[in-house]
Amino acid sequence: MPLYDFECRVCGRVFEAMAAMDAAEGVCACGGTAKRLVSVGRGFRADADWLESVTDVVEKDSPKPHVRAFLAEPSRANYCRWMAGEGLRPLESGEARRAPSPRDGIAREVLARFAARLGAPA
Ligand SMILES: [Zn+2]
Repeated sequence: MPLYDFECRVCGRVFEAMAAMDAAEGVCACGGTAKRLVSVGRGFRADADWLESVTDVVEKDSPKPHVRAFLAEPSRANYCRWMAGEGLRPLESGEARRAPSPRDGIAREVLARFAARLGAPA
């Protein structure tokens, strides 16, 4: 069975668990039900556009632990760690995707890569 990320509806914990492909829900350690998040476990298809956009801008040769961890396993939890490590903030649910701004406190080189990907001047 594939490995999926789940987010508990009760305590908010995000965890990975094996689940059937069609399982929409899991059970958290707290006993609460957890919704399945779009996820890419090791060796699974990159069907999430956020993953594609992140791997575009991640420094593939960076020695930073949060970058190494994300590249080794691009799970949602490691993505959140990468975001935090780069000084980024994940989108709130329902928040529109937008180009990052220098006011977000993004590292200059990350911002430059975002700009290059969006085809805009840095
Ligand atoms: Zn829970």
